[in-house]
Amino acid sequence: MPKREKYSHTTYVITYVVTPLEGDAFQVSESSKKKEWIVQLNDSTCTCGKFQSKKYPCPHALAVCEKLKINPLQYVDDYYTLERYYKTYASTFSPVPELSAWPEASGVPTLFPLPPLPDVSEDEEEKEEYWEEDYWEQEEEKEDEEKKCRRILSYTL
Ligand SMILES: [Zn+2]
Repeated sequence: MPKREKYSHTTYVITYVVTPLEGDAFQVSESSKKKEWIVQLNDSTCTCGKFQSKKYPCPHALAVCEKLKINPLQYVDDYYTLERYYKTYASTFSPVPELSAWPEASGVPTLFPLPPLPDVSEDEEEKEEYWEEDYWEQEEEKEDEEKKCRRILSYTL
């Protein structure tokens, strides 16, 4: 009886067409979806936004690196190095004392959160009413003091 693999992987093959533009910019096109991006290696940017936000090459930047036969690792930010990782934990961390050892707070406002939104099955008009002040005033009149404390955002010193 053949063993089934625990995990199955799907491989996608995407073909990018890389066209040099002015300066160090490259146009990367995916012909099957008629999409295109502009990659600038020196700025580590791509119009998809992932190259600059994640600080490592997006698939479009990788396509440019492949076209130029250069190592894409040079565009991976130092943030991902072990050296930076170790520096994160190099400082001494002070443990938080037990709750009973915490000093008593004074002069700090106490916040009561708003209640959750009404059931999603309720109609839209009712949801709009929920956020209007009149709704809250009417609701306050209906409820006893204990419930009011939970439903109203208030401050007590
Ligand atoms: Zn990209």
